[in-house]
Amino acid sequence: MTAERQYLGVPIPRPRVGFFELSSCEGCQLQLLNNESTLLDFLDLVEIVNFREGMKEAADDYQIAFVEGSVTRRDEVERLQKIRHNAQQVVALGSCACFGGVNQLKNRFGDLEWVKREVYGDYPIDSQEARPLSAYIKVDLEIYGCPIKKEEVERIVTNLVLGKAVNHPKYPVCMECKAKENICLFELGEPCLGPITRAGCDAWCTSNRLACWGCRGPAPEANVEELLAIVARKKMSMERLLDRLECFGGFAGAADTLRRKLKGGA
Ligand code: SF4
Ligand code: SF4
Ligand code: SF4
Repeated sequence: MTAERQYLGVPIPRPRVGFFELSSCEGCQLQLLNNESTLLDFLDLVEIVNFREGMKEAADDYQIAFVEGSVTRRDEVERLQKIRHNAQQVVALGSCACFGGVNQLKNRFGDLEWVKREVYGDYPIDSQEARPLSAYIKVDLEIYGCPIKKEEVERIVTNLVLGKAVNHPKYPVCMECKAKENICLFELGEPCLGPITRAGCDAWCTSNRLACWGCRGPAPEANVEELLAIVARKKMSMERLLDRLECFGGFAGAADTLRRKLKGGA
């Protein structure tokens, strides 16, 4: 990292960073640009050398690469490997990059050739199973959410620049939801993944009376079995729960197990 500024004699690095997108809606990158009130401070913190959504110039000499999106094409694997080669640190930005995200919903059909025909007809297109970055390269840090929460990214980037540890919350969304004194959606007949999902979004959805769909993936020690038992006790729809578990890819294992169970398998 290049030391360009000092504070009380201590050098403050200003790392060169690049933002890249693979298969994605680019909503995570947009979140950063949307943060107008702090955008200038953010730009002062780092030197952005590659950010297709925000600038024309593009350079390959970056130290930190933020990569949004999942890998769903062969050329994306090569591109990702090149980014890994260039960067000292690779950060997976958002649920697509961390877990496959909404893109991985196509994986559940099993027959990808059939999916391709249904979506694109005869148009020749390369479309593989959607995978997270970590399926192909070493990822140094994951930033969760669909989309990411800009305030959280700014906090994390500040820590990276100052060389401080980045610690994600270990508790689930329920903790943030309860702190906001929201009515629990289970009381309103709505299954919610808040008890098993990693916090950090400040209970974004549940504070707006929308159930948590688990976009930030599992909280450490998430007790999925107990959540299933609660949903069963409350006679709520397991199919609705399955929709939520399989949406972003963070709960893929639990979703596979529940899907098999619902189909009458083991
Ligand atoms: S995580 Fe969500 S917002 Fe971000 S790129 Fe993927 S689909 Fe878009
Ligand atoms: S609404 Fe969801 S996140 Fe909030 S307390 Fe209930 S289960 Fe937890
Ligand atoms: S409440 Fe759940 S689905 Fe909504 S942003 Fe937070 S983690 Fe994601």
